Amino acid sequence: MNWITNYVRPRINSIFSRRELPENLWTKCDGCGTMLFHREVTDNLGVCTNCRHHMNITPRARFTALFDGGIFSEIDVPEPLADPLHFRDQKKYPDRLRAAQKNTGEREAMLVATGEIGRTPVVCAAQDFSFMAGSMGMYVGNAIIKAAEEAKKLKRPLILFSAAGGARMQEGILSLMQMPRTTVAVQMLREAGLPYIVVLTHPTTGGVTASYAMLGDVQIAEPNALICFAGPRVIEQTIREKLPEGFQRAEYLLEHGMLDRVTDRREMRGELVTILRMLMGLPPAVHGDLPAPEADAAK
Ligand SMILES: [Zn+2]
Repeated sequence: MNWITNYVRPRINSIFSRRELPENLWTKCDGCGTMLFHREVTDNLGVCTNCRHHMNITPRARFTALFDGGIFSEIDVPEPLADPLHFRDQKKYPDRLRAAQKNTGEREAMLVATGEIGRTPVVCAAQDFSFMAGSMGMYVGNAIIKAAEEAKKLKRPLILFSAAGGARMQEGILSLMQMPRTTVAVQMLREAGLPYIVVLTHPTTGGVTASYAMLGDVQIAEPNALICFAGPRVIEQTIREKLPEGFQRAEYLLEHGMLDRVTDRREMRGELVTILRMLMGLPPAVHGDLPAPEADAAK
């Protein structure tokens, strides 16, 4: 309006706001609305200490918590053809991709890495829901195939963390083709006699649920994760009936025989180690001996 409101007041505000607590110091829980200290959230792997709500975490944060000493090596994924359909809605597909890359700092919606978990060598793939809703396009297909090939080459089990809104519509039929492609990749592991373990995280939906996310030798889910093909709202509108409480949530699916386990994220690592060592015919991990990266380094 005038010099004071336009110039002086913003300057004064900016000086005072700088003295406020730094950004990201507090995180609000989506489950119960409690303000949580950022450190506390990180220490608990994104699980609310008040209501046990499991927030979305990035593949990188997950891998850092999962691998011994937070050490893993990334596996390069072959680049698919860029924007083969020249797709455009409100924005061009390449622009959407670039924006997602800028926001997440990642190349695409899946990260593949190899390393040791509780001294058990593994290959891991994790889907990134913050990258275009983790949607399955050609890159994600390539990533799963690469992960399976690497697991076969190294004779290691494959662990996959799923999180996706489904197929990537910007790639049309090509994204749907990732369903049979990834199914063949899983079959390849099966023929090689290597375990394939799926950890379903919130939400895992659409074509992802209809392919590689439901083909694990062991199916584990995080608490209260939504796991479905068509979402509850779509089903409710179609059948015009009220759905039961907790429909399509992890606990409901466990009760109805769709899952083997529902595991708290903070206990996931220990559980994966036990299952993997059992399936790989390795001696059980000594209790209290995990992760012991220092002991490894001293050897
Ligand atoms: Zn909460």
